[in-house]
Amino acid sequence: MGFDPSSKIQDRLVFGEFGGVNPSITDSSTYTFLSPDTMKEVFEHEIEGCFLYSRHWNPTNKYLSAALAELESSESTLVTASGMSAISSTVLQICSAGDEMISSRTIYGGTYALFKNFLPRFGIKVRFVNMSDTNAIKKALSKRTRLIFCESISNPLMEIADVPQLSKIADQHGIKLVVDNTFSPMIISPLRLGADVVIHSLTKFINGTSDCVAGCICSNDEFINELTDINGGASMLLGPVLDSYRAAGILKNLHSLHIRIQKHSKNALYVSKQFEKLDFKVFYPGLPSHGQHDLIKEIMNPGFGFGGMLAVDVGNKEIADNLMTKMQEEKVGYLAVSLGYFKTLFTSPSSSTASEIPKNEQEKLGLSDGLIRISVGLDNDIKRSFKRIIRCLKSLDLV
Ligand SMILES: *Cc1c(COP(=O)(O)O)cnc(C)c1O
Repeated sequence: MGFDPSSKIQDRLVFGEFGGVNPSITDSSTYTFLSPDTMKEVFEHEIEGCFLYSRHWNPTNKYLSAALAELESSESTLVTASGMSAISSTVLQICSAGDEMISSRTIYGGTYALFKNFLPRFGIKVRFVNMSDTNAIKKALSKRTRLIFCESISNPLMEIADVPQLSKIADQHGIKLVVDNTFSPMIISPLRLGADVVIHSLTKFINGTSDCVAGCICSNDEFINELTDINGGASMLLGPVLDSYRAAGILKNLHSLHIRIQKHSKNALYVSKQFEKLDFKVFYPGLPSHGQHDLIKEIMNPGFGFGGMLAVDVGNKEIADNLMTKMQEEKVGYLAVSLGYFKTLFTSPSSSTASEIPKNEQEKLGLSDGLIRISVGLDNDIKRSFKRIIRCLKSLDLV
């Protein structure tokens, strides 16, 4: 008897799983069909349990999507190759040339650049407004407005979006409310508060190990089906497919998200309070001094705290740069963009993650160049970590 591995595998592959506690990883770009008729049917509409081609769907991405749908209480979820592709696919699915959208003016720099520089090339006009100014939003609405976009906790100034209020406005005008929830998974559930679409950069807290870039779109079945439609779906046709090996890794990390978020929040609250005690201007929604502390308390899910992100104004760019260099030397964490890593990461938004926003706009937003954004890590002993920060502050005569 000759050895034919493919026939042996084929017999067992029908159900794909071998009893492992983790789902097996799809290692295929294409899938076999038992009959040409079924293939034709799958081209016309999705059939549960049937796969065609991995840019459309693959089993591993389905597992991750199902878990993320559970996280965001969405009917359906689509995973993508990045947070940016989740945003661009969503916007391009909803808006056509001649349409308009309203966006918060304080958003992630990449999103800002997409909206400000890229979308106008395709005839989509974006009006940037202060999301806490309801009148400004109403004034910016027109017959061509298709969606309102905001971040539930904004980058980098930690402004809170009043999702219930915004969803009322969106509903009244028959348009969609799209919320980027990257800073607050578990903490805020925008879909339950009335949003239509939730986006995540999985790159950040959800994966939590800063080893890959990924994103997702959570919404109802109808919208996810539109996005993946073979003839007109933005994600199907633009093709930002997440690799299944990465999807499997993210799925495993997702299982500890609730514990990590609690610890990130606890540590960030401690660091915020300490900086505030030292008379620095701190932006953290868990502090009573934060302008929307009451709002976040109203809309947040109990038990997860106020998140792992804070910003502190240390005066000017030179001081910020010196302090961050010192903090890295003292092993407080790393001078790096991104967030949600198990170690503390810090960056100066004005010259990095928000550098796409012109300087005069930055000033209007209150985004000073002395601002340091800190993604507080999972330090076991945060008091000891803060003592290191104090050493840095002292060495620069800041306290
Ligand atoms: C990082 C980030 C994005 C972009 O996500 P990528 O995974 O880097 O493409 C979008 N929004 C926010 C709030 C982010 O922090």
